[in-house]
Amino acid sequence: ATDQVLSTAEPKRAIGRPVTYTDSNADRHEADMVGRGSSVKNECFPKRSPYFQAGFGLMAMGVGLTALRQGVTVGSTALQRKLLVSLEINNKDKAYEWFLAWMAHQAAAAGWIKSHQLSVETTVEQRKNGSSSAAFRLVAGPGNHYFRYKGAWMQMKRERETRSMQMMTGTPWETVTLTTLSRDRTLFNQLLQEARDMAMQSQQGKLVIHTGMGNRRPVKSVVLATGVAEKIEEDIKAFLSRRQWYADRGIPYRRGYLLHGPPGSGKTSFIQALAGSLSYDICVLNLSERGLTDDKLFHLLSNVPERSFILMEDVDAAFNKRVQTSEDGYQSSVTFSGFLNALDGVASGEERIIFLTTNHVEKLDPALIRPGRVDLAELIDDAQPDQARTLFEHFYAGGEPAASEVDIDKLAEKLVQIVQSEWDAGRRVSMAALQGHFIRTDARTAVETCHVLFR
Ligand code: ADP
Repeated sequence: ATDQVLSTAEPKRAIGRPVTYTDSNADRHEADMVGRGSSVKNECFPKRSPYFQAGFGLMAMGVGLTALRQGVTVGSTALQRKLLVSLEINNKDKAYEWFLAWMAHQAAAAGWIKSHQLSVETTVEQRKNGSSSAAFRLVAGPGNHYFRYKGAWMQMKRERETRSMQMMTGTPWETVTLTTLSRDRTLFNQLLQEARDMAMQSQQGKLVIHTGMGNRRPVKSVVLATGVAEKIEEDIKAFLSRRQWYADRGIPYRRGYLLHGPPGSGKTSFIQALAGSLSYDICVLNLSERGLTDDKLFHLLSNVPERSFILMEDVDAAFNKRVQTSEDGYQSSVTFSGFLNALDGVASGEERIIFLTTNHVEKLDPALIRPGRVDLAELIDDAQPDQARTLFEHFYAGGEPAASEVDIDKLAEKLVQIVQSEWDAGRRVSMAALQGHFIRTDARTAVETCHVLFR
């Protein structure tokens, strides 16, 4: 067997041999090249040769054609400019997703997709019990697509920028360019509105999730009354470290917070900053949303993604509105008992952190504020003198070249006195109003004119 292998290997080596030129081969090859080269030269350049004339004719035609082609391009660009109008949508813009979803929907409805370049978008829904489901949606892929909208033809060009990526997500930049006839330009607006409404509709009854990633606001930038922020932070950290403790005792692993106080005192900002600092997302649930029923609410609350806060704002208004506006036909269909039921949820090991906010704690039903539903309630109030000082320092200290540190200290002290005396007289200012005031003016003017802010 060994012999056989050897013998078949031999001819192979022999076949390979001619490829490696021996010296004589190379010489011959070179001579060949030179010979052919010179012969071409000799044939091409004698005067009055028929080849020469034909070659010249071809060249002239080529030049002529190129000029013509350029002319046509210039002409069509000018025509395009006059007759066509384009709209560019970048994937940094919200409208991008809306548009692609809208287009996918149109395609599914009208069956017009004749394009050959499709992309698939898959949404995977991971359920708490470990099962998951995936939905596919065919969207127009990169390339050109044509479709009709309200009788007008439109070209859609989807392009992907391969050179740069989005910093945060690592997804490539993309643009969609829609082109149509100038006279149909108003259709762009209608189309985008339709796309937006469709997107909004599909969001109804869902949790709107704000990812913690986009929010880099430091907790310290929200200035609450002394000790309040620390108290809430410590409470939540203690809760997060006691999962096992809850499990051992069979207690549902949940904690509810109620932040109450006048508007513009930093309730929402604080919750956002806190979520960001813990790398948590926020699921915002709008209780007075049309179409939200007790069942849906219960379902939503039992299917909150991991590592997220549930935020329900203005909880007092959700149930008052129902009473106030029932005459004009509007009725929120979440009932108070349905709401409590959803808050209590199913007894399970799922972690649930719920934040409620209200401007009117006095309007809340005591049933809502009992422990197990609301475990920690904190008043987030209008600006106390100390808070005003800290916010003032955040804005002006170290930043303003015109005023020295001493001046800033003096001005801050003056501000504290003003806020204190106003407070004593029963007049207050919100932190939001102070912030707005500080943004507009310099340190000195801010203090001198701040009296106008109190109410
Ligand atoms: P609330 O939820 O209490 O109505 P927001 O958190 O919406 O108040 O605050 C509104 C605006 O005012 C935000 O831009 C926020 O930065 C600012 N603001 C309010 N309170 C504070 C605060 N305590 N510290 C810093 N900024 C504040």
